[in-house]
Amino acid sequence: MPNPTEKIPFKSPTCEIITIGTELLLGQVVDTNTTYLAIELGRAGISVCFRTAVSDLPDEMRQVIDIAVKRCDLVITTGGLGPTRDDLTREIVARVAGVDLEFRQDLMDQIEQIFQRFGYYMPENNRRQAFVPAGSQAIPNPVGTAPAFIREVHGKPIICLPGVPRELKYLLTREVIPWLKQRFHLTDHRITYRVLKTVGIGESKVDYLIGDLMGHGKNPEVGLLASQGEIKIRIAAKVKDMKSADELIGPIEQEIRSRLGKRIFGKDEDTLEQVIDSMLAENGLTLAIMESFTAGLAAQRLHCLLTPRLLESAVMPDEKRLGRKWLGRENAVQGSSAARNVAQKTGSIAQADIGLAILGVFHKKGEDFKVIGHAAAAGKGIEKTFTWEMGGDISTLQLRGALIGLNTLRLALIEASND
Ligand code: ATP
Repeated sequence: MPNPTEKIPFKSPTCEIITIGTELLLGQVVDTNTTYLAIELGRAGISVCFRTAVSDLPDEMRQVIDIAVKRCDLVITTGGLGPTRDDLTREIVARVAGVDLEFRQDLMDQIEQIFQRFGYYMPENNRRQAFVPAGSQAIPNPVGTAPAFIREVHGKPIICLPGVPRELKYLLTREVIPWLKQRFHLTDHRITYRVLKTVGIGESKVDYLIGDLMGHGKNPEVGLLASQGEIKIRIAAKVKDMKSADELIGPIEQEIRSRLGKRIFGKDEDTLEQVIDSMLAENGLTLAIMESFTAGLAAQRLHCLLTPRLLESAVMPDEKRLGRKWLGRENAVQGSSAARNVAQKTGSIAQADIGLAILGVFHKKGEDFKVIGHAAAAGKGIEKTFTWEMGGDISTLQLRGALIGLNTLRLALIEASND
């Protein structure tokens, strides 16, 4: 097994992304460019180390570009390439490089052609876009008027791309990534990921169990991402080809799986509901679901798969009513054995092999709410209950409750298939 502390076999070039535009700092435009760039650059084998947003003010732009050139192997900017006076990226990069702007007739011709194609008269100020810092490599932009350019400063490329996301994507994939691969000899190098997904376990418990495998600068690098009741464990490897990806990622994945066991429900694009649906299909089982406080969220996930295995689902928010209708008694349904009875009844009324009940009542707790939840799966060779207590806002409690309920069913199916 390769040592997880083994040093990265080659050094990825480091990159700073600078997004330019006062509207980004005011929160008027959501910065999607950085996210897109970070993903695509990572795939190409470039390490994004810094991301900076800056206003259109020249001094501030100059400051951040100066800093970025010093601390990274390459810099990518987006925005500020338009025709107006506050589009200053060209001027500022020229200043950083210590050169003047130079007029490029070839760029002017292309800009004029774009205007002709759309049947518009070209305003005079679009001439500004035909200027680039002297010594730049221009990148023509067939999907917009702003040409991009690359200017090397002290042997480090500053790549200036338009702010409009559609134009940025076009130029990045067609021109910039191939150029970077040549410039930094990245042809065979890439960062590849595998994601293991857990549910029903807290972030700190995951950290406790696999924390020693995590850390920066390792290859593969293991990291955690907690979202929406799931914890994703990302194993990222810098590799030369897919064979070495499997060799590097495989042993770490095995180690993590042996420590977390069945808390891991799937990997990469798997979802909890897909995993459950496949298990039901494998065992030829059908399902019916009854929910109270989770408002049908658990069933909705399975319904979205259009699965024929979920025969019926229902929501009864009032547990007194549920007790009266389902169990024929006057008091509310409470506790795990009552949840088991509801699960059984739900399955039998729907003529499904398994019934799943996810029940609980909201109690106000200060600004927030508290729920004691009970999940039960009961039916053909299956019986499992789980009880939890959780505080938070209503939508979080509902979402988590739905996941815990579905996970109880998943664990019940695993136990049944082991018997
Ligand atoms: P143009 O030639 O259209 O003026 P430009 O390179 O000057 O392009 P900006 O003027 O800075 O780019 O931005 C154009 C538009 O692109 C903005 O109005 C905004 O909607 C969008 N945009 C700019 N930066 C970003 C960003 N970081 N993320 C998402 N959208 C952005």
